[in-house]
Amino acid sequence: MRVDPGALGVLNTLREAGFRALLAGGCVRDMLMGIEPKDWDIATDAGPEQVEGLFSRTLPVGAHFGICVVLAKGGQYEVARFRRDGPYGDGRRPTHVEPADECADAQRRDFTINGLFYDPFLNEIIDYVGGRNDIERGVIRAIGDPHARFGEDYLRLLRCVRFAARFGFSIEEPTRSALSALAEGIESIAAERVEDELTRMLTDPGAVRGLELMMDSGLLRVILPEVAQLRGVEQPPEFHPEGDVWTHLLLVMGQLDHPTPELAWAALLHDIGKEPTFEVRDRIRFNRHDVVGAKMAEAICRRLRMSNARTERIVELVAQHMRIRNAPDMRESTRRRFLRQDCFSQLLELHRADCMGCHGKLDLHEYCKAQLALLSEEQLRPPRLLGGRDLLELGLKPGPLVGRILDRLEEAQLEGNVESRDQALAWVCSRYGASFKTVGN
Ligand code: ATP
Ligand code: MG
Repeated sequence: MRVDPGALGVLNTLREAGFRALLAGGCVRDMLMGIEPKDWDIATDAGPEQVEGLFSRTLPVGAHFGICVVLAKGGQYEVARFRRDGPYGDGRRPTHVEPADECADAQRRDFTINGLFYDPFLNEIIDYVGGRNDIERGVIRAIGDPHARFGEDYLRLLRCVRFAARFGFSIEEPTRSALSALAEGIESIAAERVEDELTRMLTDPGAVRGLELMMDSGLLRVILPEVAQLRGVEQPPEFHPEGDVWTHLLLVMGQLDHPTPELAWAALLHDIGKEPTFEVRDRIRFNRHDVVGAKMAEAICRRLRMSNARTERIVELVAQHMRIRNAPDMRESTRRRFLRQDCFSQLLELHRADCMGCHGKLDLHEYCKAQLALLSEEQLRPPRLLGGRDLLELGLKPGPLVGRILDRLEEAQLEGNVESRDQALAWVCSRYGASFKTVGN
């Protein structure tokens, strides 16, 4: 197995100083599965002060948990002392931790596949929890009593689903039933941590499986009731042969390929307004489900304490997810403004996934791509021909009309009606001349 050279260097330094030092947790699991680990965590019997003494650059990130980050040539490595967790009072974190041996350190970890150590010098996997066998069988199993382990830290409920989804593993029966029985415990976890786990799950391959597991275990109903409600919301079969909104949603999510967090969330939430707007008239209709959905999406993002930038983008995408249908009928200037938006590539991808999740027709997707290919940068974002000062010099009073005129002028440029500064001046005078003081009087 190939081990990151920076991590090897850190392990070697610890070992030469007489400490035991092993790779631990996710990186060992990933190596066994043939996946490149994201980070290389090290577990040792050295305490944080001893680690600090051995390396010139360290960060004291969690000395009371026995953790220290070593900054080495190859990157940053978390070096943690073998420990046992003290009692968990609040379903989130232990009151304190104690130094312990490596077997106890394996026992405090969440799932067997995450409880392995590896000694690269002996090329030896150290397995106190049966994790290696579970990786081979493709099984997620809590270490010890699943009820107790979820009850200590309810974030593990989401981690369980995330790992099962990402690796396509099944969840072993006692762990699965504890997951369902304790789903409501997730409410005691801080919204930011929940959001972080969900975003990872939604952007990883396997998001569809993750959502199904969340639905089946009841986690979805607790965390995102608005999404859970979409199951059973019927759609007009002539437009949605696939079935109800939930079925559509899973098909859409399955179309995404390594999405950005914003796109993944927007895809999850794009039809969230269909439940409250459901109506049977000439056929099933969801009038204004995009507008209603955008409001609901915003409330969800705020509830999960997402950043403003992420929230705004998700809301923008949900609000506009039906607009591509109108693109061919838009005025030229409206269409160019639509196509040049920062969010457009994500919107186009959302639209593609949305279509593939029902009728599979991509003509509007192709139309927008062709339009974008035809338009030059200058046609999309024409240079400014006049500024506010020009209008004031023409005799316009300062005020909101200045901005409005400049906006209309850009519209005329985007329509191809105005191309030069002279034309712009003539255009402004012919339309707004009456608003100007006569200069010189
Ligand atoms: P990823 O590839 O998503 O980072 P990971 O397994 O490395 O997965 P981390 O959150 O980086 O997950 O945690 C590193 C290790 O720490 C885990 O493999 C596990 O052994 C342990 N761990 C992390 N979070 C918990 C938790 N909430 N409860 C128990 N053990 C945990
Ligand atoms: Mg990790």
